[in-house]
Amino acid sequence: DKGLAVFTSGGDSQGMNAAVRACVRMAIYLGCKVYFIREGYQGMVDGGECIQEASWASVSSIIHRGGTIIGSARCQDFRERAGRLKAANNLIQRGITNLVVIGGDGSLTGANLFRQEWSSLLDELSKNGTITSEQKEKYNVLHIVGLVGSIDNDFCGTDMTIGTDTALHRIIEAIDAISSTAYSHQRTFIMEVMGRHCGYLPVVAGIISEADYVFLPESPPPQDWPDRLILKLEQERKAGQRLNIVIVAEGAMDREGNPITAEDVRKVIDERLKHDARITVLGHVQRGGNPSAFDRILACRMGAEATLALMEATEESVPVVISLDGNQTVRVPLMECVERTQAVAKAMKERRWADAVKLRGRS
Ligand code: ADP
Repeated sequence: DKGLAVFTSGGDSQGMNAAVRACVRMAIYLGCKVYFIREGYQGMVDGGECIQEASWASVSSIIHRGGTIIGSARCQDFRERAGRLKAANNLIQRGITNLVVIGGDGSLTGANLFRQEWSSLLDELSKNGTITSEQKEKYNVLHIVGLVGSIDNDFCGTDMTIGTDTALHRIIEAIDAISSTAYSHQRTFIMEVMGRHCGYLPVVAGIISEADYVFLPESPPPQDWPDRLILKLEQERKAGQRLNIVIVAEGAMDREGNPITAEDVRKVIDERLKHDARITVLGHVQRGGNPSAFDRILACRMGAEATLALMEATEESVPVVISLDGNQTVRVPLMECVERTQAVAKAMKERRWADAVKLRGRS
């Protein structure tokens, strides 16, 4: 008789709806009362209509839709204890003690903190008379499970995050579209793609589009990169290639940590080769559109597993994230993954690129 709530938080990604749907339907199948929380943590703090009971039908016809129909937000209030106190009361009043959080490492960190604080929040609510001692007793443990929605594939502990595959589809569709026009005119196209700290999207896009050069956050080129780039492009032209593609991650930098932008690359090509070089910044297109088949099934499996993990949780169990390991959906300790993800970010900041790649632990 303990309720389960699902919410999406932080940046959105394609496939979040499929995950919400799977959580809700598995919960109903198991006989559990299930709620949506709209607008992420903000909805949890605000309560009222932001927390609504979900039905089987309320998640019909959303599996193919991008973004998140229950809204996502960044929420300052939840970073303060006062906000979390309000959120705890809103959950208790509805009997919710199971949460599925779909977001990035920030959202998962917030959820873990909330869980750790839970009993002290309940103490405070009980002392000031907001909840009864029976409620405090009955709802004394909060269980959380995380699902990672991120197009960057930047989370440690899972082979793929929800949204990455679709973002790659968007990138490759754009490159293919541009290639056909560029082919007629001998051009160089410079594509700026997302990936502030993680080069997964630019690397994979580079391989599958036969790009000539890729600038990545984790693998900064030596200072003479303009010479190397020009040499490579000249070689390709001499070999008869009419189209050159250069991919620049939005977080690309040189070994000193100075950003390398698409415009920097364009200038070098323009000045030295006199090629017609054009920049395309894909931006939010990468987050948009319908989720791919892969993201839909990934989200379905992860969402169903999240609900199962919550239903099986005991007082002793540690919070988990649902991950993809090879082709298996597995449960891994949430804080271990969050800490490793934060260690990668720190290593990147300190320009310890090899450490970052090693910590991420993915080939
Ligand atoms: P993401 O989940 O995509 O990494 P953010 O880092 O912006 O995105 O986090 C989303 C929300 O999660 C924040 O707006 C905040 O409400 C909550 N949050 C993040 N970090 C914490 C934290 N350390 N303590 C409490 N809440 C947090």
